Amino acid sequence: MTAAANDPAGRDATRPADPISWPDGARSAAILSYDMDAEAVVLAIDLSHGERLSVMSHQAYGPVTGVPRILAMLERQDVKATFFCPGYTAERYPELLRRVADAGHEIAHHGYLHEAVRGMSAAAEAAMLDRGLEALERVTGRRPVGYRAPMWETTYATPGLLLDRGFAYDSSLMDCDVPYELAEHPGDGARSLVEIPVHWALDDWEQYAYLPEAFGSGLIEDPAKVLSMWTAELAAYHDHGACFTLTNHPFLSGRLGRLRAMETLIETMHALPGLWIATAEQVATHVRGLRLAPRAFPQPVVDTRPGELSDRSPGAPA
Ligand SMILES: [Zn+2]
Repeated sequence: MTAAANDPAGRDATRPADPISWPDGARSAAILSYDMDAEAVVLAIDLSHGERLSVMSHQAYGPVTGVPRILAMLERQDVKATFFCPGYTAERYPELLRRVADAGHEIAHHGYLHEAVRGMSAAAEAAMLDRGLEALERVTGRRPVGYRAPMWETTYATPGLLLDRGFAYDSSLMDCDVPYELAEHPGDGARSLVEIPVHWALDDWEQYAYLPEAFGSGLIEDPAKVLSMWTAELAAYHDHGACFTLTNHPFLSGRLGRLRAMETLIETMHALPGLWIATAEQVATHVRGLRLAPRAFPQPVVDTRPGELSDRSPGAPA
């Protein structure tokens, strides 16, 4: 299998994540994150979508209308959030980005044009990371320390590419519900960065996204149902001392009824004793200080026989 990575107790690197002790005796943690996909997520699917004024206006709702409203709500609730931003969004809305940063929220990396990295070479992925970094640093004056892969799609090269660029954390993986140290590769002496796990069930995309001929199921959920689902998840995460990492998109959750539901959820968070509401960077800094032994994910290798799976390309009909 694999050698234990940097664990003095000699435990398998693929073991379950260790429980986390939270600052000041807190019981659990919550991160509010906003992915500022805006036009980039649609242009990355097909650049010709850029010729469709109505489609572009649907995406522009995020930065134009959603984000100012979200900033006002976060100020009312006195919480700081993390905004994962594609470099393209930063270049298109530089004043808005500076406004988000000036309000004390964290700006983190979310690709350049919301690129899907499946099948991408490490060199191309590196170039995407560098272009996004350059754009965010130029617009905000600060180099981001966090990364969330567009569509949460990463490669086995991603951790090393992030470490080469000084990132402190990633927030794209789904094997746990508490943060941990992610080793670049199995084995002693491997470098690691903090991983803050996510999940589709804590993402507004699956609830609200609908853009004909681009994405979405065509089903737009009732914010009351979404609030009910997330409130139940929050209670369970809190009971287990986990990290409730919620992903929202301003072009979706900036809309009125959804924003009201979100504010109700934050009021519920405030009422939970011992819930630490923090930015992803604050959580990563705390977790790094715990000096956890890293975990790793050896890439699956299948020993195929002639005429079996090896003849099938990924995604080919079974
Ligand atoms: Zn995104």
